[in-house]
Amino acid sequence: MRVLITGGAGFIGSHLADRFLSEGHQVVVMDNLLTGTTDNIAHLNGRPDFSFVRHDVTNYIYLAGGLDAVLHFASPASPVDYLRFPIQTLKVGALGTHNALGLAMAKNARFLLASTSEVYGDPLVHPQPEDYWGNVNPVGMRGVYDEAKRFAEALTMAYHRYHGVDTRIVRIFNTFGPRMRLNDGRAVPNFITQALRGEPLTVYGDGSQTRSIVYIGDEVEGIYRLLMCEAAEAAEPVNIGSPFEMTVLELAELIRELTGSRSPLEHRPLPADDPKVRRAEIGRAQALLGWSPLVPAREGLLKTIADFRRRLA
Ligand code: UDP
Repeated sequence: MRVLITGGAGFIGSHLADRFLSEGHQVVVMDNLLTGTTDNIAHLNGRPDFSFVRHDVTNYIYLAGGLDAVLHFASPASPVDYLRFPIQTLKVGALGTHNALGLAMAKNARFLLASTSEVYGDPLVHPQPEDYWGNVNPVGMRGVYDEAKRFAEALTMAYHRYHGVDTRIVRIFNTFGPRMRLNDGRAVPNFITQALRGEPLTVYGDGSQTRSIVYIGDEVEGIYRLLMCEAAEAAEPVNIGSPFEMTVLELAELIRELTGSRSPLEHRPLPADDPKVRRAEIGRAQALLGWSPLVPAREGLLKTIADFRRRLA
């Protein structure tokens, strides 16, 4: 196969590029490097089965040659990024998704949208199954991301139903691993960087809010299986995340333990609309893809900490 990965210079996109190449496919990465970096794909430079195109997919996408799949991963994804780039976030979710779907249709390629657990907003149903419609504040600070992804899902289903494009929607839950930016702003990279630097770990609010974190290797496996899945139901959204929930306070303490850091915890104000709970209901992924996460948080965090240590040195 020849696959295009938009946002392929980002954290998840670059790991996907590695995975597709290791399976013998050809990969084109397209990225405007707003939040991604060529450091993530530098090791692929010069390979005949790999190419990089610097392009902002909110503008028309021209790509020569055939394509078998378009994986649309371009978007700021850390809350600090989409607060910093609100318009770009809305544009890449709306115009970028439209262009990526149009390209998939023109090339007769399968399309996979990187969606998010943020479509559930601050959920009133727990854990979150795919048929929960969510609780999103459209005019809140997170609305630019949540609504962009919700629109992207609606557009993807419209292309599927109206144009017959073969589509997939993955709802990605909090994913962590090597290559996350040191200053990414999300909980795992923040806590690891702070712990390794001996700085206080910044816990927002009282830290009782929960997340379920999944290791990048597991996330990529789930996404790969969803793309390859031939079942008709694969056009429905699928949660790929961990069912193991923990509080942010527990996460901070676990990272402090695994890094051997003596950094104190420091409480900061809780950002507006921060979801109070989040846990993936993964019954659909298990039934459809035979997928569930295999890497325990501890083991994934140790690998991530080793990567951060190397980059901070
Ligand atoms: N968080 C925190 N300290 C940080 C960064 C994040 O306590 O330095 C909290 C944040 O308020 C949220 C949770 O950790 O409740 C996960 O935040 P993250 O930015 O990783 O992703 P989100 O799931 O909110 O998109």
